[in-house]
Amino acid sequence: MAEVSVRKLIKRFGQFEVVHGIDFDVTDGEFMVLVGPSGCGKSTTLRMIAGLETVSDGEISINGELVNDVPPRDRDIAMVFQDYALYPHMSVKQNLGFGLKMRDMPRAKIEEAVQRTADILQIRELLDRKPKQLSGGQRQRVAIGRAIAREPQLFLFDEPLSNLDAKLRVEMRTQIKRLHIAFNATSIYVTHDQTEAMTLADRIVVLRGGVIEQVGTPDQLYNHPVNRFVAGFIGSPTMNFIDAELAESAGEASIVFNDGQTLPLTAAQRQSYASHKGQKVLFGVRPEHLTNVFTAENRGGAGLVPIEIPVEIVEPLGADTLVFSKLGGSEIVSRVAGSADLRPGTRIPVHVDMSRTHLFDPETGVRLT
Ligand code: ATP
Repeated sequence: MAEVSVRKLIKRFGQFEVVHGIDFDVTDGEFMVLVGPSGCGKSTTLRMIAGLETVSDGEISINGELVNDVPPRDRDIAMVFQDYALYPHMSVKQNLGFGLKMRDMPRAKIEEAVQRTADILQIRELLDRKPKQLSGGQRQRVAIGRAIAREPQLFLFDEPLSNLDAKLRVEMRTQIKRLHIAFNATSIYVTHDQTEAMTLADRIVVLRGGVIEQVGTPDQLYNHPVNRFVAGFIGSPTMNFIDAELAESAGEASIVFNDGQTLPLTAAQRQSYASHKGQKVLFGVRPEHLTNVFTAENRGGAGLVPIEIPVEIVEPLGADTLVFSKLGGSEIVSRVAGSADLRPGTRIPVHVDMSRTHLFDPETGVRLT
């Protein structure tokens, strides 16, 4: 087991700085996900932790030991890559046992570890095959197996599911989660897919342009995004953003959209936004909080504001339906009951769960509290 600490970490490729001095800690047994758009520096950060890239400045420690200059093979790390990186000329069995053989483990012990790993990943019947005789999902299973067999103190995953089709991706995601629950091994996982991040992570580091935007649990990122970027990146479909003003309407502190439509604030919001009165704001509401569905959470709750929205495009998903329309002059998406009979051109009554809405500074994107 391992703790990882990253301090003021910088990476330059020549003159070009791509990681700008980031700090985060991964605690023992934690599943930490690094997420962010393409090019934000997440793979580079992971590769520095693995020792596959040099550190330009700053420190990486594993279990309190500075590892900046420790070669990869001495870091007791196993890494799972997007392209599997299996040895093509070796059987699955040889691939699984290779890392152990390199560590001079006795043959009988290797055999035992390989069989145990094959059982865990249900790939026993594939042991004599070569990688080219496997499907993508089976190859990824072997790649994960190779990492597990070594029982490293730290697992690193670099977009391991990107090459799999949607259904397999979900299956493997569950499998990885199951393995983490079983072994509780410290893991750092890189992905650009926010759903993967939300479903797998104990905590998430959101990166953009080589800097950290927020570190938090999935719940913290979903409910209290610190800025517009995190709010828009986490959640699917993405949060709706509408230009508005914090103003008095009929004697009540309200959100007033550019088209004049108003939504009264809750008592708690009136208090926390008191210092922003009269200010222009960016109003954020997730599709699932702009709905006709009453949940155990929101039923009868204060702050449910009824409104009507025009139906423009309908996307039935089965369990629920996405409705694309306009609110306050902006394009929005709402998530309504799946059985609703909706026709473009009609209007539908929904409610805004005000207690789940967010306000951001329209200039800086920073959350108003
Ligand atoms: P993706 O999801 O596309 O893999 P990422 O967040 O993992 O993106 P990185 O691969 O870490 O991003 O790359 C961060 C930046 O560093 C990018 O601008 C990339 O072009 C640059 N970069 C990465 N490797 C090198 C390299 N060896 N030489 C020069 N620039 C590099």
